[in-house]
Amino acid sequence: MKRTTGVNRLIKAALLGTTLAFAPMMHGAMAEDAPGQIRWDLSDLYPSVEAWNATREQVLKDVAAYSRFQGNLGKSAAALADALDEVNRIEKELARMYIYTSLGSDEDLRDAKAQERFSQARTTYAEFGRATAFMAPELLTVGTKKIEGYIKREKRLEKHAFFLRDTLRQEKYTLGLEAEGVLANASEVTGGAGNIYNLLTSANIAWPTVKLSTGEDATLSQAGYSKYRAVQNREDRKLVFDTFWQTWKNYEATFGQTLDTLVKGHTFYAKSRHYPNALSYALSGPNIPEEVYRTLVKSVNESLPSFHRYLKLRQRMLGLSDMRYYDIYPETTALDREFSVDDAKKLTLESLTPFGEEYLGLLKQGFDADWMHVYPQPGKRSGAYMNGAAYDVHPYVLLNYNKGFEDVSTFSHEWGHAVHTLLSRAANPYETYSYRTFTAELASTTNEVLLQEHLLKGDLSDEERLYYIDRALEGIRGTLFRQTMFAEFELKIHEVVEAGEPLSGEKMTAIYLDLLKRYHGDAEGVMKIDDLYGIEWAYIPHFYRNFYVFQYATSISGGTMFAERMLNGDPKAQSDYLNVLKAGGSRYPYEMLKEAGVDLASEAPYQTIVARMNRLMDEADAILTRMGK
Ligand SMILES: [Zn+2]
Repeated sequence: MKRTTGVNRLIKAALLGTTLAFAPMMHGAMAEDAPGQIRWDLSDLYPSVEAWNATREQVLKDVAAYSRFQGNLGKSAAALADALDEVNRIEKELARMYIYTSLGSDEDLRDAKAQERFSQARTTYAEFGRATAFMAPELLTVGTKKIEGYIKREKRLEKHAFFLRDTLRQEKYTLGLEAEGVLANASEVTGGAGNIYNLLTSANIAWPTVKLSTGEDATLSQAGYSKYRAVQNREDRKLVFDTFWQTWKNYEATFGQTLDTLVKGHTFYAKSRHYPNALSYALSGPNIPEEVYRTLVKSVNESLPSFHRYLKLRQRMLGLSDMRYYDIYPETTALDREFSVDDAKKLTLESLTPFGEEYLGLLKQGFDADWMHVYPQPGKRSGAYMNGAAYDVHPYVLLNYNKGFEDVSTFSHEWGHAVHTLLSRAANPYETYSYRTFTAELASTTNEVLLQEHLLKGDLSDEERLYYIDRALEGIRGTLFRQTMFAEFELKIHEVVEAGEPLSGEKMTAIYLDLLKRYHGDAEGVMKIDDLYGIEWAYIPHFYRNFYVFQYATSISGGTMFAERMLNGDPKAQSDYLNVLKAGGSRYPYEMLKEAGVDLASEAPYQTIVARMNRLMDEADAILTRMGK
């Protein structure tokens, strides 16, 4: 899911230390390639570390000199254009300078020199953030009337118009100078909740160790839990669940306090700025209507019978007489097939033929170039991402390719982000090429759906067919149902605070347990949820990201709708889809998707994905019957 484009996100990540966590430093370690490693070419960014360093020094000078624009934004149209041209010029170079170090450090997190450069890049970003912090408030003081006049008169402001209007949109929610100062200072206090949570969960909890039936001692840290919750022995899974969740339960009051503080912070800002509620404040940035969030929650609740059907299907595949919450993770199918990187390229190209020649041409260009770092190796950052922040260069893709089907899926996903970046870059100036999360994950999940459907079209054994179906269904469970359940929880705890009622860890557990039971059909006898598991909310770090997770669910739904339209021969589907990718950040994501026929405030996308899910389950049922299961 990871993806990086756009400087604002980079700045935030750098300043908050969220997605780009600090790595442990070890001296004397050198980046060494695994045999046969396929690697990216960072010299496309800078020919040498010296050249990078010279750029960094120049950027620091430019940043320091930027204060000359302060107080001048409202002097004339030309003065405003000068200031905006310069800030974008610096930002573009800064982004390139930054990714050179972040990619370099991800190759080997133990490389102290690379870490040091990365840290220098982050410091430069922080400087940039401070030097340009005056802009938004000053633009708001200049006001819409004057700036609209400037945009009409000055041709150079054309490419800045979206940014200017987007900033001015906040006008009616902006307070007086003194109040704004207080709010700005308060952010250091309100940001504390997330920091305390991170510290507690990463450093302070003593993770328990259990002995599994195999004799293995399993330490149930977060990573250990992810691994051992999927073991095939059911008693072991129960032991893992009961022990892990009891550990979190011991901190119920503490995590309740941190999350309550966070929620109170959100409602404090929403109220201070006169937003009707915390949700509308959170969605105001990307300008997404509240209706999207509420329709998603409503539609998914209406589709719970389909989800219950899926849980029963899992039960059938696992051969169990009843289902418990700890039966969610073990694999029910296996695939005895390896996919080389060439296979991944071939399958990606074949499956994406509905996108047309322009898209496929860009994909081939990327495959033939040195844009990706493919295999795992000691010290390399785990996971996968696309980084498209170097506007004048090309996207970079990091993978940890292991030849499984999931790796092919991730491969296609990340290249979906890469081609999105290429299309947006070709169609937009730097100022508007960076797109929002709301559309970004759609450009990658569509690829995953098309890959699954492409494989399922083949002549497969029942076992292999069932495997792909199972992967697709698991994706829908984890991305549509689970994330929407999270989204509903997030909304509920904010509503409790907004209603002036007290919120505590105990109350959060009660709210979460109620959702867990409803989603998983506890009352209908589909899956029994033990009360202890109601503490799961405490384990989800995404609740500290302010109404973020719902976008996973909207993306997979919108992506599925596009994929289905293409596969069903809708003649407009291809151009609609490409138009969304090409629009980049030149427009608001909700609006452009709506125009492309995917209205995420309507029920259609959610009904489409659930219909696909039911179709897949019909096929799985038929296969299981054939197999005599
Ligand atoms: Zn992604």
